[in-house]
Amino acid sequence: MPAAPQEILLTTIMAHLYARCVQVVAEAGVADHLEDAPKQAAELATATGVDADALHRILRSLVSWGIFEASPDGYSHNDASRLLRSDHPASLRAYARMMGSDWQWRSIGALGHALKTGETGMRHIFGEESFDYLSRHPAQSAIFNEAMTSRASIDLPAILEAYDFSRFPVIADIGGGQGKLLLAILDRCPQSSGVLFDLPHVLDAAAPPPSDRLTLAPGDFFRDPLPAADAYLLRRVIHDWRDEPSIAILAALRGAAKPGAHVFLLETPLPEGPERNPVKGLDIVMLAVVSGRERTIAQYQALMESAGLRYLATTPTRSGMALIEGVAD
Ligand code: SAM
Repeated sequence: MPAAPQEILLTTIMAHLYARCVQVVAEAGVADHLEDAPKQAAELATATGVDADALHRILRSLVSWGIFEASPDGYSHNDASRLLRSDHPASLRAYARMMGSDWQWRSIGALGHALKTGETGMRHIFGEESFDYLSRHPAQSAIFNEAMTSRASIDLPAILEAYDFSRFPVIADIGGGQGKLLLAILDRCPQSSGVLFDLPHVLDAAAPPPSDRLTLAPGDFFRDPLPAADAYLLRRVIHDWRDEPSIAILAALRGAAKPGAHVFLLETPLPEGPERNPVKGLDIVMLAVVSGRERTIAQYQALMESAGLRYLATTPTRSGMALIEGVAD
C-alpha cells in the first residue's frame, strides 16, 4: 500500500535529522569502537569521548532507520553500520564525515539562498566556492579526498568490468584526486602509462608515488596546460561545474589531446523520469555547495559537442556510474 501523504511529507521534512545522526556518529568514530559483541551506549561514549545519553538517543534513532541493532545487551553492528567503520573495504565513514562537515552542512542550510538567487549557499556563507575553500583547509580537503576515493570501492570493479582501456598507450585522469581509478586501470593495462592531473595541494597531500608508468601533473585545468594523452578520464569532475566552465574544461582537453583521443566522463547520470534516485540528492549538493549540476546522458552529450568533441557512446556499469565517451577528432 502506498504511504499516506502525511507520512511521505513528515518523513521528508525530518529526514535531515537522521542524516545528521549518521554524520555525527561517523565523525565520533563510534562504529570503530564496536566489534562483534554488543556494547552499551555508556561504554561507547567513554571510548569516543561523547555524552552517553546523547549517544544512546542518536543510536536509537539510527536503529529505527536500519543502522546498528539494539538489544538489552546494548548496541551491535549490522551490515549497514559496519560500513561506518574506517577499516571496512567499502567504508562510507569518510563520505558521511564529508557530508556532515561544517562547509557542506552550512551550505546546505543556506539552500534557501540558492533557491532565491541560484548562487551556492557556500558562496553566501563562506564567500568562496568549495575547491578554493578546500585548497586552504587541508584537514577538510583530506576528508573530501578520502570520501571521493571511498566511493571508488563500489565504482571501480564495475568500471573495469565494463570497459577495456588497454588499447590506450597514455591515459590521463583529470581531477583524478588520489589516483585510485587510474592505478586500478594501469594495473589492468600493463602496456599503458598514466598521468594524474589535479590541483597541486591535492597531489601534494594525497597522490600515490610517481613511477615509470605514473606521472603526476599538478595544475589547474582552467589555467594550466593539460597533458597530451590517448584517453582522458574525468570521474565525477564535470558534475562539479556549470555548463560554461564544463565546456571550457572539455575544450582544453580537446586542445591537448593526441589525434583521435577518447574522452570518458564517468558520472552517474540523472534519470529522465520522476523516480527516486540518489543522484537527485547529489544534485542538491551541486546546487547548494559546489556550483555544479547533475545531468542526463543527453546533457553530457550536448556539453561534449559544444566543446567540439564527437559523442560516441555511453557504456552503463552495474554501479550506476556510466562511461560517457567522446572522441577528439
Ligand atoms: N576524480 C576523483 C574521484 O572520482 O574520486 C575526484 C573527484 S572530485 C568530485 C573533483 C576533483 O576535481 C577533485 O580531486 C578536485 O581537486 C579536482 N579539481 C577541482 N578543481 C580543479 C581545477 N581547477 N583543476 C584541476 N583539478 C580540479
